[in-house]
Order: sequence, then structure tokens, then C-alpha cells
Amino acid sequence: LIIYSDLDGTFLDYHTYSFAASLPALRRALDRGASVVFCSSKTRAEIQALQATLSLSSPFISENGGGIFIPEGFFSFELEELPREGSIRLLRLGKPYKELVTALTDVRERLGVDMRGFSDMTAEEIGQLCGLGLCESLLAKQREFDEPFLLKSNEEGLLDKICEVFAEGGMRVTRGGRLFHLTGENDKGEAIRRLTELFQRDEGNIRTVGIGDSVNDLPMLEEVDHPVLVQKPDGSYDETVLSRLPDATRAKGAGPVGWASEVMNLI
Ligand SMILES: [Mg+2]
Repeated sequence: LIIYSDLDGTFLDYHTYSFAASLPALRRALDRGASVVFCSSKTRAEIQALQATLSLSSPFISENGGGIFIPEGFFSFELEELPREGSIRLLRLGKPYKELVTALTDVRERLGVDMRGFSDMTAEEIGQLCGLGLCESLLAKQREFDEPFLLKSNEEGLLDKICEVFAEGGMRVTRGGRLFHLTGENDKGEAIRRLTELFQRDEGNIRTVGIGDSVNDLPMLEEVDHPVLVQKPDGSYDETVLSRLPDATRAKGAGPVGWASEVMNLI
């Protein structure tokens, strides 16, 4: 059993980023031999810090499918075709961060819209915006494949126009829990497809679960055998996801509470 999980608002509480509610279920799942793979818009640095806190050493997917990170020796076969950084093999699917930042600046000037990316903000501002401490904000700024941004205006049709211009340059805009995200043509779904192939090569017959809370999780949920949607803090489920995946399991509880209840059911 491979459990692919979003972090913000799913494994972690939307407001406090606490994993207190999901931790017992995570331990149970790991004890039963399941693999838990984080698949988030967070950066490599943020996910590594979380994994260290949890003593978790599985592969993970950063920045909305931009990068897949596999600990050396995790699979029974060699991954020599992938570049190695320290004790990690890295599969890059995303556009380099620099290109995304340049594109955001260009589009802002071309359309004259008020968009601010993480690269325009100090760590303190990111902390205030996302409810993160200074250390965590510094980790969140270490970006490789995804530029989160704020769009001040909610003028009708503006977002469509922005998306169109980015699409001409081979880029996409997705919406996470708090912010928009500018990425290359990668998404969580493609990353999961690639990683699942490796798990299959290693273990043969596997079953995949995906757990998320937002529309940026849709490509991930479409890719797994068993899609699970947790509640948002107000108790609702993401309507876009449900309209596309009406049979997705609706976990009882917001974020990590729903996460724990559904993972316990599954194992
Ligand atoms: Mg989320």
C-alpha cells in the first residue's frame, strides 16, 4: 500500500501546521508496512525538515510535482540514470525556478497586474502570510520548481487572461490552499505516475491511495486507485475535486483528523 499525501490542510492542520492528529495513524500505517509519500507544494527543504521530525525516510515529491526525491538504496534496484545529490536521487520534472520568476515579472509588467511572488517577499512577509515561523519561512523560500504568488485583484476574467499568457510559455497556474502557484507543465499526477512505476518495479502488485484537500491535488487523486478528500477547516469538501471525482472517499474530519480516520479505515 502506497499512501500519497498532500501536506498543508491534509496531513498538517490548515492553520497550525500541526500533525498531532495524523501522527498515530501514520505510525500504524508504517507499522503495517505501508509507504507514506508526501506530495506537496512545499519545498525539498521543508519536506526534509518534516521527514526528519517524523523519522521518515521515504521518497517524496516537492513543489506540486516539480521534483521527486528518492533516498539512495530505497528501491532494490539502482537508479543510476538519475543525478545524485548527497544520499538522494533526484528526478526533475519542473521548470527551473529562475525561469518562473522571470516569467512572473514579465507578465506582471505586460498586463499591469498586482501579483507578488515569494521571490518578491521577505521571509517575514511569507511568515505572516502563511502563518509560519521565521525558520520555516526561510525553508519555504528555498524554491526549485514552483513560484507561489498572490493576486490582489479579483477582477472577473483576469485570472483566465493570466493563465493564457503563462500557458503560451509552457507554464501553468494552480490554486493551493492559500496561494496561486506558477509551475511548468508538471503536476502532482505526473510525478505520482513516475514514482508508482518505480514502486511497481520494486514490489510488483501495489495499491495506491491519494489524500488531499484542494484542487491542486486533483491530478494526484485522478492517478491513484483510491482517492480520498479531507474536509476544509469549515467542514466543506473542495467542490471542483468532487465534481471531477464524484466517487472519491470523503474522509470524516478536517485536514489531519480526516487523514487519520481514513488511513485507520484503510489499514
Ligand atoms: Mg493542501
